[in-house]
Amino acid sequence: MSIVVLGSANLDLVYRVQNIPGPGETVLAASRASHPGGKGNNQATAAVRAGAAASFIVSVGQDEAGAMLLDGLESDGVRVSARRVTEPTGTALITVADSGENSIVVDSGANSLLAELTETELGIIEEAGILLMQLEVPVETVGRAAAVAHAAGALVVLNAAPIRELEAELLAAVDLLIVNEHEAFRLLADTGLQATEATVAAELLLELVPAVIITLGAAGALVAERGKSVRTVPAFEVTAVDTTGAGDTFCGALVAALEAQREAGANDLELESAARFASAAAAISVQRAGAVPSIPGRQEIEDFLGHRQS
Ligand code: AMP
Repeated sequence: MSIVVLGSANLDLVYRVQNIPGPGETVLAASRASHPGGKGNNQATAAVRAGAAASFIVSVGQDEAGAMLLDGLESDGVRVSARRVTEPTGTALITVADSGENSIVVDSGANSLLAELTETELGIIEEAGILLMQLEVPVETVGRAAAVAHAAGALVVLNAAPIRELEAELLAAVDLLIVNEHEAFRLLADTGLQATEATVAAELLLELVPAVIITLGAAGALVAERGKSVRTVPAFEVTAVDTTGAGDTFCGALVAALEAQREAGANDLELESAARFASAAAAISVQRAGAVPSIPGRQEIEDFLGHRQS
């Protein structure tokens, strides 16, 4: 039993700018760089660097970007189950402002062809201890994988980003939902519920799924579970230079911590302590540029936590 991530891989084109341009505005970039990215790729990498064994089901193009992404994943030790399709590899155009804020436009490319799971892919999902997914691949695929993993007894974790309307059937197969504040409000609005405050949103989301984490950037995260009060896991105080991938680092490190708890024989998983480990991983990542390049390893996360506790 181990972690299976199903999701996207993109080539990130990152432009550093003073301020993110608004409508009609053109700005000059201070620099340009390209890195591996995509929520699935980032989260699989974060899980493995945080010390877990993870498989990654992904679709990339038969192009240079696809080969580069697969090389990167393999050198990190991710077990990759890749489709090489005729569509080009997905790309993301990212602007990062001096403040560390970003804006992102994604062209899904090959990710959009991750439909109709193959026998091999279904076999990997059936063996999962934890299945972690996001919404940068077709939502029908996410739904099918969630149902298969749920039926096989896996813990199904959905990072509902980028947010879109979700079928009740998909949510019924999700054990843990991870969203930011904006995604939480949108998800509630789609189901006819309304919240303008994160704690209320967390409580309302428990009507849809058994456990929820709402990430709040530098304000930390809320952890909510049915039958327990909503708890805050504060963010660590650091100087952010690039928050791209902070949420992905959080998700990957979180499932790695949950898997470690399971391996240690825990019957009930402690979401709050896993979220603290994930916050440390994310706090390290925001101090460095890029998504994948900024994801820390397990030793670095443990050293950081040790430092902050003393
Ligand atoms: P987000 O997806 O931006 O909500 O971030 C996910 C997680 O990353 C948060 O819950 C925090 O633990 C961490 N994080 C994000 N931004 C920062 C920041 N500026 N400083 C410290 N931690 C951060």
